[in-house]
Amino acid sequence: MQYISTRAAQGQAAPKRFCEILLEGLAPDGGLYLPLHYPQVGSSELRRWRSLPYADLAFEILSLYVDDIPPDVLRALCRKTYTAEVFGTDAIVPLKRLEEGLYLEALSNGPTLAFKDMAMQLLGNLFEYELARRGEELNIFGATSGDTGSAAEYAMRGKKGVRVFMTSPDGRMSPFQQAQMFSLLDDNIHNLAIRGVFDDCQDLVKAVSNDLSFKQRYKIGTVNSINWARLMAQVVYYFAGYFQATSSNKERVSFCVPSGNFGNVCAGHVARMMGLPIEKLVVATNENDVLDEFFRTGVYRVRGSADTHETSSPSMDISKASNFERFVFDLLGRDSERVAGLFGAGLARDGAFDLGADPKFPQAAQAYGFVSGKSTHAERIATIRDTWQRFGVVVETHTADGLKVAQQHRQSGTPMVVLETALPIKFASSIVEALGREPERPPKFAGIEDLPKRVQVMDADVQAIKAYIAAACT
Ligand SMILES: *Cc1c(COP(=O)(O)O)cnc(C)c1O
Repeated sequence: MQYISTRAAQGQAAPKRFCEILLEGLAPDGGLYLPLHYPQVGSSELRRWRSLPYADLAFEILSLYVDDIPPDVLRALCRKTYTAEVFGTDAIVPLKRLEEGLYLEALSNGPTLAFKDMAMQLLGNLFEYELARRGEELNIFGATSGDTGSAAEYAMRGKKGVRVFMTSPDGRMSPFQQAQMFSLLDDNIHNLAIRGVFDDCQDLVKAVSNDLSFKQRYKIGTVNSINWARLMAQVVYYFAGYFQATSSNKERVSFCVPSGNFGNVCAGHVARMMGLPIEKLVVATNENDVLDEFFRTGVYRVRGSADTHETSSPSMDISKASNFERFVFDLLGRDSERVAGLFGAGLARDGAFDLGADPKFPQAAQAYGFVSGKSTHAERIATIRDTWQRFGVVVETHTADGLKVAQQHRQSGTPMVVLETALPIKFASSIVEALGREPERPPKFAGIEDLPKRVQVMDADVQAIKAYIAAACT
């Protein structure tokens, strides 16, 4: 399998193989990597895969995209990643039935209780393998306001050849999130609490990444959501969800996905392009409705910071959807020149583009199955309450946004699977607001606030950060 950039002019950049793009973020031309084609899965694969354990299903799907890791090694990496010990059950992503035709797929029983573990845990093992093969080291430098940073740290802790330097705004994460990250005492994990807000942390990451000589000298990398390997790992749970919601491969299923950067639902798009019988892909946003606006109108408009709302489903508080370019590339018939124009110069100049009048736009729904909706704070609180009263199930805020929007798009005879993207304990204050009580805490997290912590509090000072990284690398 070969990979191309969404912005590469025909024949300009040579396609790359999986291990070449594994450790990369953006392609050098600013685009995102995608496979040259989507491998097709037919009824014989579906029949064979239906009964496989999750790790072996992952291996089958990954094998279609990875041909430069020996198969027995790839299978071993999948089996090491997707264990009941790490993800809580043998099913890894068990399906919960709420009522006839409505399901929750649990993607949040990994180490940090959010769906990002599903991909990040595999990434940790892939990185360790590839760095050892190259004889290289990597220093992951990132900024987090919660879910991504902790998933990265739990994936990379103790891994050979990798260090993680994760900045977060000092005192602004929930006590549970702080405890989760700062209680990691592994030598290769560095928590840097920055006196400032999340934007200050992101500016530090940009400043360090823009210093090319420092970046090269200290092998600085990232693990953000545009990484192809993360997306690929997420394709697997669409298959696993489909198999659990159906008893025959003739049935179709819709998925509703709480969305921010369009990473999770983009994996659903890939699964559908491979031939998984998905009816609709329902994109659920919160008040930050960049994606809902696009699927309703064809207008993609990046929000300014004054226009980006802080909500009670914070992991979906985005100003732009960084994976969205991948879908637009497919929608426009893989016209990389046009994509480069829209996402490069076009967005830089106008902050927006409009495909509403483009003859291809209606295909987003008709050919690709995308529909969308938006949920507000009041609606997610009402949904949490309603889901508890009707089904006796407590969901957290992001999942509630998904459930709210899913209700608008249910069709009789087609199961609707809502992806559960985190567990309630991560967003406890909204649960208290909705239900008047604290959410249940999984036993392994009892008392984590009292564990010893390892965190360095620092000013938002680029020189000080660089000096810290340099010292840790000697
Ligand atoms: C990251 C995250 C999302 C959004 O996922 P995208 O891939 O950015 O669309 C939704 N819910 C939770 C809990 C998350 O951590």
